[in-house]
Amino acid sequence: MQQRNEIYYCRPVFRPPSEANSLLIQVSEGCSFKCDFCMSNLRKKFLIREIEEIKKDLDINFL
Ligand code: SF4
Repeated sequence: MQQRNEIYYCRPVFRPPSEANSLLIQVSEGCSFKCDFCMSNLRKKFLIREIEEIKKDLDINFL
């Protein structure tokens, strides 16, 4: 498995301010719901990432 040196993010990343300092691991992109007021689905189609791609994110050495 080829290792990455940074976590993959499908941007823009939407998250609440209370999670601003949390480490994000994206296991999916977009959203399966379609709330009228939300802009997230205009830019991203919903998909679940492949487990091997998620494992590459988890193997990154942050030190
Ligand atoms: S579509 Fe609805 S559930 Fe999905 S991210 Fe937007 S507000 Fe949240």
